[in-house]
Amino acid sequence: MTMRSYRYFICPAGHQGTEKTSENDQPYSTPWESITTQGLVNAGEDSMGYKAYVCEVCKKPMVPCSA
Ligand SMILES: [Zn+2]
Repeated sequence: MTMRSYRYFICPAGHQGTEKTSENDQPYSTPWESITTQGLVNAGEDSMGYKAYVCEVCKKPMVPCSA
């Protein structure tokens, strides 16, 4: 079974980005995790260990939003 989850981000200028995470949780297969992003630039990890992103357009920090 493959699970997909989405996280939505927005920057101070209002640009939006999306992170899609696909996880394979089958017990007898090699665990893997695949992350694809749209409108985001990888900026390493934040202090909580989550992926951190900056805006692809204006390079400002993206913050998660629930929209
Ligand atoms: Zn922006």
